[in-house]
Amino acid sequence: MNFEGKTVLVTGAARGIGAQIASAFHAAGAHVVITDVLAEPGRALATKLGSRALFIEQDVRDEARWEAVADEAVAWGGGLDALVNNAGIEAAMPIADLDVDVARRMIDINFVGVLLGVKWGLRTMRPGGGAGRGGAIVNLSSISAKAAGGGMAAYAGTKAAVERLTKVAAVEAGTAGYDVRVNCLYPGIIQTDMIDHLADECIAQGWFQDREAVLSWFKSKTPLGRLGRPEDVANVTLFLCSDYASFVTGAGVPVDGGFLYG
Ligand code: NDP
Repeated sequence: MNFEGKTVLVTGAARGIGAQIASAFHAAGAHVVITDVLAEPGRALATKLGSRALFIEQDVRDEARWEAVADEAVAWGGGLDALVNNAGIEAAMPIADLDVDVARRMIDINFVGVLLGVKWGLRTMRPGGGAGRGGAIVNLSSISAKAAGGGMAAYAGTKAAVERLTKVAAVEAGTAGYDVRVNCLYPGIIQTDMIDHLADECIAQGWFQDREAVLSWFKSKTPLGRLGRPEDVANVTLFLCSDYASFVTGAGVPVDGGFLYG
């Protein structure tokens, strides 16, 4: 897949899946805008990638920042052709022990942050917008939107909301003639810091004895018999943003090694 002459913005891209998505777009020739609340690793990644990469500090909850970031991306990259709403956080807790502040923070980042991203992505890429030449948006949902894992009620709610907003956005963008496709992914268990954090939470809850036990359980639930890698998710993201997916919108694609059907 060739993204030469295209500009792509990836949120939460200082590390983990987002960093891999940004790197894959860059390797495919794109100008890549990396945004994150984590400034140091974000800047380091942009420096490592080189001249076609730019880091911008951004908290996805802040709407004024979204407008400024979209403008800066267009000014720097000469347009905006794809947006990946990747930034997200995870917290596991049984509903009976719910910490409502943690749940509200998750809703704000995982749902409102993506909603704002879609809003400014559409406004920027639609005809007459700052970039104005159409494009693609990919939102990171999760297998949690589809499977009922204990402890995941608040996180799963945010990811189910991302799935639903993706479909509504696809309908709105399509019928309004924006020439912007909107899709989402349901990643399974992908090896990043987030999964280490989830494993630690599972141990703290007393559900597993140690990290090895948690990871083997995840593997046992995955028909392909391994954990996912960030590049597994990046590859599908590039496909959805490419012309190979020109008639795909409102779709949700599992990238889970078969977890949802295992
Ligand atoms: P990581 O925690 O490794 O990376 C997420 C990045 O997003 C971090 O750099 C994080 O910074 C940043 N971030 C957090 N809050 C904000 C914010 N308000 N504004 C901007 N950036 C922010 O996560 P993953 O790479 O594992 O996950 C990426 C996405 O994929 C998430 O949406 C996640 O829910 C989803 N996903 C991941 C799965 C997995 O197995 N890893 C499975 C299914 C879905 P900080 O460290 O400061 O929080």
